[in-house]
Amino acid sequence: MSQPCILYIIIPCYNEELVLPMSAPVFLQKLQEMTEKHLISDDSRILFVNDGSKDRTWEIISDLAKQDRHYIGIAQSRNRGHQNAVLAGLMEAKDRCDITISIDCDGQDDPNAMEEMVKRYIEGYDIVYGVRSNRDTDTFFKRFSAESFYHLLSWMGVEVVFNHADYRLLSNRVLNELQGFREVNIYLRGMIPLIGFRSTEVAYERHERIAGKSHYPLKKMLGLAFDGITSLSIKPIRMIASLGVFVSFLSIILIIWSIVQFFVGNTVPGWASLCAIVCMIGGIQLISLGVIGEYIGKIYLETKARPRYIISERTEVQGRDNKDDKNGEDDRDEA
Ligand code: UDP
Ligand code: MG
Repeated sequence: MSQPCILYIIIPCYNEELVLPMSAPVFLQKLQEMTEKHLISDDSRILFVNDGSKDRTWEIISDLAKQDRHYIGIAQSRNRGHQNAVLAGLMEAKDRCDITISIDCDGQDDPNAMEEMVKRYIEGYDIVYGVRSNRDTDTFFKRFSAESFYHLLSWMGVEVVFNHADYRLLSNRVLNELQGFREVNIYLRGMIPLIGFRSTEVAYERHERIAGKSHYPLKKMLGLAFDGITSLSIKPIRMIASLGVFVSFLSIILIIWSIVQFFVGNTVPGWASLCAIVCMIGGIQLISLGVIGEYIGKIYLETKARPRYIISERTEVQGRDNKDDKNGEDDRDEA
């Protein structure tokens, strides 16, 4: 690998006006360090994806782009969520670079791990997962809920890398394959392992946010967990079927037991147990319907095949001209 590779650092930003002015120079410095070490080419870029922020985030990105050519930005037409923002950035970068590294803009992911990631790519890996070495800075609750989430996902048959979020290096050929994954409900952590190719991990320390507050409160985290499971696994539907078999089996035993009780002469009033059983069955049925409904909802959304992101603005005008408008939406037609 004689020619240094072109790296695009993909950074999703949603309402990060407090954070960006502090974290952007850190990314630039890291990019320059790697360029000086000839690990990456000087054509490498830092690509901010403004995810429909309601504050001054886009103005800050536009200013940064004027200050230094290494900074570029795209804006989604509205807030679509972290996963869609990362995907938009990856697809925007796909035809212009050899590798991408996606990282959060809030300083929680240690940028120093990027160098190690690039070295692994040079050694021949196509995917390098950033894995947290510790969660000391997280609250007990965040750590507990996040770790339970990974266990739940793998139990549900979704292959995920333990303690890996969305800090990862992807090679160009992985990006090309990722484009073929057409689902609208995207969960990158579960999708990337499905692509295959040689992968490895790099450990890094997760810090606290440098400013602002998390956009992932409990409610959103549960939503992400549920999406992750129902987008990538049909195990819950199978579990419902197994539960049905189990409950039917139990009720057969119960019927036999009550017949025996009748003949023995212990005719119990039985109201309480009957009531409990009716409630239980009712509850199970409702949960089952809910889970099945969730899948049907997903099928509904997938059949619409709506664009997964819409880019409304770019800091680089010529970037659009020479790239014949590579949005997620235009290449849908050929499917
Ligand atoms: N983010 C985004 N769109 C959203 C929510 C978050 O692009 O709707 C970005 C956010 O700016 C940050 C990253 O995703 O760079 C991770 O978000 P956050 O730090 O709020 O989540 P946490 O690290 O607490 O899980
Ligand atoms: Mg964060």
